[in-house]
Amino acid sequence: MEIYNTLTKKKEEFKPVNPPNVGIYVCGPTVYDFFHIGNARSFVMADIMQRYLRYKGYKVKFVMNLTDVDDKIIKKANEEDVEASVIAERFTNAFFEDIEKLKIKKADVYPKATGHIKEILELIKKLEINGIAYNTGGDVFYDVHKFKEYGKLSGKKLDDLEAGARVEVNDKKHNPLDFALWKSAKEGEPHWSSPWGEGRPGWHIECSAMSMKHLGETFDIHAGGHDLIFPHHENEIAQSEGVSHKPFVKYWVHFGFLNIKNEKMSKSLGNFFTARDVIKRFSAETIRLLFSQAHYASPLNFSDELLTSAQKGLEKITNFVQTINNKLDKAEPDGNYPEFIIQTYYDKFEQAMDDDFNSPKAVAVIFDLIKNVNKILSEDEQWGSNFYEDILDFLNSTAEAVLGIIQEPVSASESTNETVDKLLDLLVQIRTKAKKEKLYEFADQIREKLSELGFTLVDTKDGTEIKK
Ligand code: AMP
Ligand code: ZN
Repeated sequence: MEIYNTLTKKKEEFKPVNPPNVGIYVCGPTVYDFFHIGNARSFVMADIMQRYLRYKGYKVKFVMNLTDVDDKIIKKANEEDVEASVIAERFTNAFFEDIEKLKIKKADVYPKATGHIKEILELIKKLEINGIAYNTGGDVFYDVHKFKEYGKLSGKKLDDLEAGARVEVNDKKHNPLDFALWKSAKEGEPHWSSPWGEGRPGWHIECSAMSMKHLGETFDIHAGGHDLIFPHHENEIAQSEGVSHKPFVKYWVHFGFLNIKNEKMSKSLGNFFTARDVIKRFSAETIRLLFSQAHYASPLNFSDELLTSAQKGLEKITNFVQTINNKLDKAEPDGNYPEFIIQTYYDKFEQAMDDDFNSPKAVAVIFDLIKNVNKILSEDEQWGSNFYEDILDFLNSTAEAVLGIIQEPVSASESTNETVDKLLDLLVQIRTKAKKEKLYEFADQIREKLSELGFTLVDTKDGTEIKK
């Protein structure tokens, strides 16, 4: 298979360092708020990549870091007058809840910056010994002029960067492009002991330390949003290779932005929707289908119209699965097999995904299969059960196991079951009681969990109605 490598700026054959093992590191969230649907795009596409590599038989170790010490976390903690760790823990929990709702498979490791201070200090010490890092009164910086290849990922040249750089008054750095490895402790900030005094790590060094600890000095794939190429990933390379003198990463993969009206969705611009709000209105499968229908590296304009059209596409898939299941229930094991070769669809699906994870083409293969099978079904003949089984196997191992877009069919008998109705009434009573006791968070939790199961609670003046 081929992957587009930001480092070499071309599609390259994928040859892991140590096959069949594949190490992947993805820059995860800074846990200071709920993540938005733009972040979700990067997380879902990373999920599809690792699912596909597993489908191909690779033994994947997938690592996603959580940045749990950072200016934004500290700011929020000070606003709420709590410890930074309280904010980090609250939004780490929210992150796990939301990725589960999006059917994102759990990573093998979720390293946290605060759990890797020892490794971070080791790296900075080595950089200092190698003459690449310098200490100015408790702040340690990376001297970009000491790394000859600085700029090789982003294609930026130091001279050009310097011409455009802003020199700040009272800057302790030797050069405006030098970046912080260790920041001396300030009032109201979390801090750790170090050879340079109390302080906390810079953002870039966290990712170098955590990725090398969990995947080794040279590993296969490092991914993140397009915004991270410079300076974050450029700096990661400078730090890691400045210590190991080995290539840090073989394939650099970058996700295109989810935009709104051609502008990057971001917290700072305020043009965002949290993933948890979008999931209340559209299913995980709809969101994943929408993302799959664009190539991971291209920008994608987000809109309600696009979601609605993805929802229609998903209905087609869901209805098709339901039809095939119904046919299978009635089919005979020794019935006829139509003129149809399932293997060609596997081949086309793999060809698409092997070409730099071309998921839009892969989705097209699935719709092509649906169209062709529907034609066969319109012939009104009873086919043998192995025909229907082959189709379901294909959908399970491609559309579901790789893309995550097959909805669990809910049978009518299940949703109208008397016991279910009684249990629902009971939950509504508990929630009403919780609200009376001012346990609003608990009450909201009940509502959210029920909404995940497909039940909406509507509060009216006569009480609470349940809508399926
Ligand atoms: P952050 O929490 O801001 O560090 O972002 C977490 C991940 O989401 C990073 O890999 C970012 O590059 C990515 N990201 C941020 N905004 C967008 C966006 N609008 N579209 C796609 N990915 C994004
Ligand atoms: Zn990172």
